[in-house]
Amino acid sequence: MNWIGLDGRVAVVTGGGAGIGRGIALGLAAVGANVAVLDRDEAGSSVADEIRSRKGRAVFIACDVTSDASVEAAAARITADLGPASILVNNAGTMRAGALDTMPMADWDAILALNLTGYFRCARVFGVPMLARGQGAIVHVGSISASFPQSFSGAYSVTKAAVAMLSQQLSTEWGPRGVRSNVVSPGMIRTPMTEAIYAAPGVHETRRSLVPRRRIGVPEDIADTVVFLASERADYITGQEIIVDGGLMRTLMSVIPRPGFEGTPTA
Ligand code: NDP
Repeated sequence: MNWIGLDGRVAVVTGGGAGIGRGIALGLAAVGANVAVLDRDEAGSSVADEIRSRKGRAVFIACDVTSDASVEAAAARITADLGPASILVNNAGTMRAGALDTMPMADWDAILALNLTGYFRCARVFGVPMLARGQGAIVHVGSISASFPQSFSGAYSVTKAAVAMLSQQLSTEWGPRGVRSNVVSPGMIRTPMTEAIYAAPGVHETRRSLVPRRRIGVPEDIADTVVFLASERADYITGQEIIVDGGLMRTLMSVIPRPGFEGTPTA
């Protein structure tokens, strides 16, 4: 706990009520951070309850990150209840199926509003006070789909690629004033968002077999990396992306048939 240096720090996690955000909120609380769990879904209050039941300090705040008023109200409450935030984890995001030639423009707008503008809004609302205090860390949950187009998912990959650049831009503009900005990009993680996909017959096993680490990721895999990047241990790291995908991104050449170069078959 001392090594990671987050004891008593105030951390905000958007979309912290479920899935990866829940894992991050619990991970930050486990190293002593005081956590504000923001989620539009009231069911997310169970995450703050869980932290308090483990003697941690947490508040749940119903917040829609697509709304200026909602995020500003959340920030005011966090400052009053926990103190000024020095860590922001931008995580609340979603995915929607859609082909680029036919998807409604309203779908495009909705995904950008949440996955990109929501991240920028929170970076500003929570980051500007960090600049005033000369200290802070922002970690954005991106996706490997920022680098590999996730076809028929509408604007999803576009938003994740934009988040990667937003983070880099923040790192150069805000680094000199003490605020770092980094991205953690998950591969395939089983969460409420992806549950319907894994529920389809054979999908879990097929996906698992494509990952060099031979398992589907869990929210804790992402949480551990976020905790590190948010911590003092990462003080000299900004403008970077860490891929947490069990090796999936490195497999392209391995799925191309090359007779005579098969190696030893594995599970
Ligand atoms: P989940 O849908 O499981 O959890 C996201 C949480 O954010 C939900 O509680 C959701 O509420 C909440 N949320 C949605 N919209 C808003 C909003 N406007 N304001 C506040 N909270 C909101 O998603 P995941 O945990 O799977 O994904 C989290 C992040 O990780 C996303 O940015 C996603 O793109 C990224 N990611 C996920 C991967 C995966 O395999 N799961 C892979 C790569 C990246 P509600 O239930 O009401 O929608």
